[in-house]
Amino acid sequence: MIWNFPYNSPLAIIELLKEENLAMNKKFGQNFLISPPAWEKIVESLGEVEGQRVWEIGPGLGVLTHLLLKTGALVTAFEIDHGFSRILREQAFAGEENFTLVEGDFLKTWPKVFSQAGPPAIICGNLPYNVGSICIASLLEEQCLPERMSFTLQKEVGERLLAQEGSKLWSPLSILAQIDYALDLVATLNSGVFFPPPKVDSVVIRFSRRTTPLVKREERVEFLRVVNDLFTQRRKTVRNNLLNGKTGAIYGKEGVLEALKVAGIAESERAEKLSIENLIRLTESLTPSKR
Ligand code: SAM
Repeated sequence: MIWNFPYNSPLAIIELLKEENLAMNKKFGQNFLISPPAWEKIVESLGEVEGQRVWEIGPGLGVLTHLLLKTGALVTAFEIDHGFSRILREQAFAGEENFTLVEGDFLKTWPKVFSQAGPPAIICGNLPYNVGSICIASLLEEQCLPERMSFTLQKEVGERLLAQEGSKLWSPLSILAQIDYALDLVATLNSGVFFPPPKVDSVVIRFSRRTTPLVKREERVEFLRVVNDLFTQRRKTVRNNLLNGKTGAIYGKEGVLEALKVAGIAESERAEKLSIENLIRLTESLTPSKR
């Protein structure tokens, strides 16, 4: 069964929660999407979903879920709120064979589903504002890399993901995302499309997997360690961040300074100025000194 609930009506949502003796929980970033054009944009951004395995993070009462199921997706939804989970299981999608619910914290539950069934074709979600970037980072770090992902996020997190070198927002998260995916901004959503309206605007960001990742598989661990060291203290020079981090401990002062020289990076440079290409060159320049 696929529920016909008036998801665009705050009044209907309030009534339902009252009937079910449930309250919205601030801690879980619960802001429901109540705008049909916004739902459509998000679902459209996923491309063809029919017959595809789709993970949805934080289905809430099932607004995106019901559209995905109607278009023939095979949905696995991860929801932390037990009250919402009960509604999804017993009312919204009771007996729906293409719907699987995984109850609990996505950060704890997804690795098991991944290890049993591999990555889905698509991941999507109107992500809870407090853990959105952590959910994305955890998928990327553990290399759960579906072909496509599309997330509704706080604007500030979206800007961080889309940032380029030279920007104050260029960060390990931007780099982690961009080495495996091309990212684009699908839409900016004002707070009025949510109930209750959050304090900040949101964006929908689409991730399209690159055919070849920018960083070679065998260099990935080293590359990410270098990135993390470089951004430890943004105001410090690349030299100091590397020497004070794990990179310095592994390669020593001489190894680090030599690698910077070979990579053509000034010791006094700041991490936010370095492109992915620069970072790859630096990683590759470090490696010979290890041998
Ligand atoms: N998808 C619904 C919508 O668009 O109306 C609800 C989106 S709401 C912003 C975020 C949802 O994520 C809520 O249902 C919340 O309970 C759930 N959530 C929050 N933290 C979670 C976590 N760690 N794991 C799984 N779900 C979580």
